[in-house]
Amino acid sequence: MSQNAVKRLYLMQVGDMPEYQIPIVCYLVQTDDGKNILIDSGLPEVMPEEEKDFANGQDVIEQLASLGLKPDDIDTVISTHYDIDHAGRHAAFTKAQYVVQRVHHLDAASNPRFAPLRPQWEQPMARIRLVDGDTELLPGLELIETSGHVPGHQSVLVRLPKTGAILLTIDAVPFGAGFTRDAQDDGSNPNGEAGRASTLKLLDLVEREQIGLVIFGHDNEQWKTLKKTPEFYE
Ligand SMILES: [Zn+2]
Repeated sequence: MSQNAVKRLYLMQVGDMPEYQIPIVCYLVQTDDGKNILIDSGLPEVMPEEEKDFANGQDVIEQLASLGLKPDDIDTVISTHYDIDHAGRHAAFTKAQYVVQRVHHLDAASNPRFAPLRPQWEQPMARIRLVDGDTELLPGLELIETSGHVPGHQSVLVRLPKTGAILLTIDAVPFGAGFTRDAQDDGSNPNGEAGRASTLKLLDLVEREQIGLVIFGHDNEQWKTLKKTPEFYE
């Protein structure tokens, strides 16, 4: 068995939706050999006029600084998807390689939903790694394709030496209440069927791998119980 390269997982809250008490979050993975891998980058520094529901908190740059890290210290940015609360500071990481599902990157090119953040996620192709489906990025860090919320959305599985496996569902399952086999597709989401399939895929994964901690994308009740930066999971 190969040694897990992953050493630590940091959770960062970078903003919220005050009216709904929904946290906006991103994550940092550190490896044994000193690599810094960011998962999403949170809200943009200046919110577009029409985005009234979001409020900026201590952003990802400040939180990294509190850990002694500069944007240039980030080697990789795992992009789960290009929504405004997930890719808002991508352009700050000028030394990083971005990792995104090919399906998502191609969809975003012509999908108006992702136009507001285009200057953030549209980087030189030499710095973007397009992946197809489930992908092991390095030992202990796996990307799990979970379309539905958007085409080519990805969740992330992190295997830590002490805590064991932690699944970051991101927006495939934003709230713990939705992580069940019997949740009904109410038909309101045109991608509801794909979303259901992704939820079942993650439920199967948790069962198969006996994953002890599943962190949901925007679950305030759960978020309050988790360790946040400068604390970490190891
Ligand atoms: Zn989100």
